[in-house]
Amino acid sequence: MTRWTAFLFTLLAGLAWACVRIAVPTPGDGATPPDQFSAARAMADVRVLARQPHPTGSPAAAEVVAELEGRLVSLGFAVHRVVTPLPEKAAQRLASRGGDASKPAVSLVAVRPGADSTQPAVALMAHHDSVIASPGAADDIAGVAAMLEIARAIPQPAQARDLVLLFTDAEEQGLVGARALFTPGAEADPIANRIGVVINLEARGGGGRAMMFQTGPDNGNLIRLLSQSVPDAAASSIAVTIYENLPNDTDLTPVIERGGIAALNFAFIGEAWAYHSPLSTPERLEQGALQHLGASVLGITRALLTAPALPLPAPNAVFASAPIVGLVVYQPETGWLLLLACAVLLGLAAWWRRGAWSLSGAFLAFGQAVITLVIAAGLMWALNLVSGSVGGEYYDRLAALPRLEAVALLAAGAALLFTASAPAGSDWDRWIVFAKLPFAAAVAAQLLLPGAGPLLAWPALLAALGLAVGARIGGNEAAVGGVQIVPALLLALPGLAFLGEFGHFAFLGVGAPLPHVTAPLLIPVLALLAPAIPTGPRLPALKAAAALLLIATAIALWVRLDAPALSIPPYAGDEKQQG
Ligand SMILES: [Zn+2]
Repeated sequence: MTRWTAFLFTLLAGLAWACVRIAVPTPGDGATPPDQFSAARAMADVRVLARQPHPTGSPAAAEVVAELEGRLVSLGFAVHRVVTPLPEKAAQRLASRGGDASKPAVSLVAVRPGADSTQPAVALMAHHDSVIASPGAADDIAGVAAMLEIARAIPQPAQARDLVLLFTDAEEQGLVGARALFTPGAEADPIANRIGVVINLEARGGGGRAMMFQTGPDNGNLIRLLSQSVPDAAASSIAVTIYENLPNDTDLTPVIERGGIAALNFAFIGEAWAYHSPLSTPERLEQGALQHLGASVLGITRALLTAPALPLPAPNAVFASAPIVGLVVYQPETGWLLLLACAVLLGLAAWWRRGAWSLSGAFLAFGQAVITLVIAAGLMWALNLVSGSVGGEYYDRLAALPRLEAVALLAAGAALLFTASAPAGSDWDRWIVFAKLPFAAAVAAQLLLPGAGPLLAWPALLAALGLAVGARIGGNEAAVGGVQIVPALLLALPGLAFLGEFGHFAFLGVGAPLPHVTAPLLIPVLALLAPAIPTGPRLPALKAAAALLLIATAIALWVRLDAPALSIPPYAGDEKQQG
């Protein structure tokens, strides 16, 4: 096997594994056992509730409220309305788009008692209003219907405590319903005082796996329960750390601002064209996304409802879904142990191969890695300019995300090939230095943002282990190759799958305006691929890089020149972003 074969095989196999990890599960059907979540059963509610746009104040919204009340009573809930006049800003926003701002927001509070109603209740929350002109099958009728199916799947006698379902109104006009329920001192209803934990269900798109991307404070024990009850949850403290620094809001914002209530936020963000789109109909909702959202929230809800006591507040955990092993959770301090193991492996490898690398070669390799990153980020930035995304219409860019993601991947590939073809020290110089880079970045993350640790520390550990094994076995020759690189490349596969999955979600989250912020992911990618990166001859690699860039440019131009997406809402262009 040549270096080129090993390089391409590892890269493509890692990407393929990432694709498997971002795929949605098969939706449940009518034959799904009654104690499990079935997207087919939930779709019956989606088809009714999302048959037409139902913005706050509209006759269609009143129909949705009435239909929900009927469904909730049939599921054994006591329901009441919480009516809130729209605040001035919300009313202006609704009126500016042709809505009826004279009507109040009508949220629903539904309670089904458990064995002990004096214990703090478990609440699920989703908003029942849509934006103007969108049926809102995904945002947020998917969440609404998932809550009904979850309530159906958990028999009332199994409840150790009360189950509360909150269907908020006017989320799209500025979280009006949720603020009315949770803003301290201004509560329109006393229910918030009885709630111990809130799980919010949202969508910013019409498909994809549901990410648990936000928590309340002191999430340690709650996350441990999540990992026990939903082993295949797509959750990560990396997303939580990033989301904390974004200006976005959901109904969970007033819950977290209130304090004292544990909280989890789930959302799917794939098929981003569907966000606030007139085309977000029941037929176009990805049922696998509904299945993943519903099954994930059912798992943790059942665990919370049946536990003898709700999880006590505990320091925030570091966690992420890992290939093969599922959702891994640990204390931030444990991150130092991972880094220590990493340092020992890197030190051993450098010692075992002390004759095969030099300081000057290491400097060359370091420079090569830096140049790769700069080239990748620069290409992503420049191609994004070509695509017209800077200052582009927000919803049109969301619709273009799959193409923009392809452009960014091709740019990263071109940068890798450019690196592949450049001379830099010996094989060992490059392998040892590349393996150290994510380790160094992981140390910085551990100090500054421990929640982001897994993104760097886990690939760093895989790379260090592969390097140490490779350094131990094989002969004393200066070149790296043969069986020596096999363990490292096998270890690279789960690392690439993990990074590819994260990169995909990061791109969906921030990629349209800022694709280059994903370029630093190449640091751990370089470390994992290091032993297989080919050296010379230079020309074929440069030709391949040029070909990738040509394709990327063509796609970027296509995004720039095609007509505005059919999926964008009629008010697209009014503003850059809304909740
Ligand atoms: Zn929403």
